[in-house]
Amino acid sequence: MNAADEAITLLKKYGGAAYFGEPVSQLEHALQTAHFAVQAGSSRELVLAALLHDVGHLLVDPAESAADEGIDARHEIAGYDWLLSRFGELVAEPVRLHVPAKRYLCRTNPAYLSRLSPASVRSLELQGGPFTEEEAREFESHSFFREALRLRSWDDEAKIPGMVVAPLEAYEWLWRA
Ligand code: FE
Repeated sequence: MNAADEAITLLKKYGGAAYFGEPVSQLEHALQTAHFAVQAGSSRELVLAALLHDVGHLLVDPAESAADEGIDARHEIAGYDWLLSRFGELVAEPVRLHVPAKRYLCRTNPAYLSRLSPASVRSLELQGGPFTEEEAREFESHSFFREALRLRSWDDEAKIPGMVVAPLEAYEWLWRA
């Protein structure tokens, strides 16, 4: 199986599973995130990152997943490792950084923290909580800083029940590079 087929299979196989404590499924969440990335005029790589940013969750059977058991599953690292060898760093890096981006925003933007969903607040604690000032400065110097923040903003938006967006089949163009 090539990388595109592997990704599509994962999205379809576990895509119907609930997205931890949110009112949308994993697949709806992925498609909404990609939708916002397209709307923002993103590069092909960043749209791919948006569509696959939670692939780390899909690599494990959702029934066995750790989210509600008080364990940080480090899904962004699993996703990064999986994506790097298949789609390269332009896709993998924003995915790796989408959790640090949340910790960064919680440090630098008080309004952000107050807008997080209850499930996202719960996972924040498992992810290490808000960055320190020093961690925040270091994060700003990362070459994928901007992409990470953009992906994070779409990820946070993409929890809208019943939102009509393009289906997975509309992303054929993404897989052909
Ligand atoms: Fe997400």
